Amino acid sequence: MGRSLVQIESIVRKKICTVCTSRTAQGDCGLENPSTCALFRFFPQVALAIESVDKDDAQRYVGAIRRNVCSVCPSQDSEGWCETRRQVQCALDAYLLLVADAVQEATGKAFDPKKLRSRGGALSGPGPRTRLSPQIQW
Ligand code: SF4
Ligand code: SF4
Repeated sequence: MGRSLVQIESIVRKKICTVCTSRTAQGDCGLENPSTCALFRFFPQVALAIESVDKDDAQRYVGAIRRNVCSVCPSQDSEGWCETRRQVQCALDAYLLLVADAVQEATGKAFDPKKLRSRGGALSGPGPRTRLSPQIQW
């Protein structure tokens, strides 16, 4: 039985927020509006993008996040430019490999490359709820 998305997000929060430079000394998110943190604002898309990468490779993770998360994030303009990224203020981008590791660990690293290939990558269809793997449950 896989973990729920809420459980996975909770695990990732514990791992990433504790090392994030935006965290305050009190342990809270230091962003003016914490809900704008792209990592958790788009967490379903983030989890699916990471899950879609069938081989540990930094560039593949970057590509999956650019395609599936940055493409729907309001911080990126129509030219693909993101000032938040340039200023290293996007926790998802800054800690991407840690995020990928945390998501994989939370989902049990039970990737099925055949299944991933057959569905043509994350978010290529209607919506995230229709494309979840057995490792992520709603
Ligand atoms: S910016 Fe995001 S990752 Fe960093 S502490 Fe805030 S919620 Fe956590
Ligand atoms: S790098 Fe920029 S566009 Fe991509 S998720 Fe982060 S803030 Fe959004």
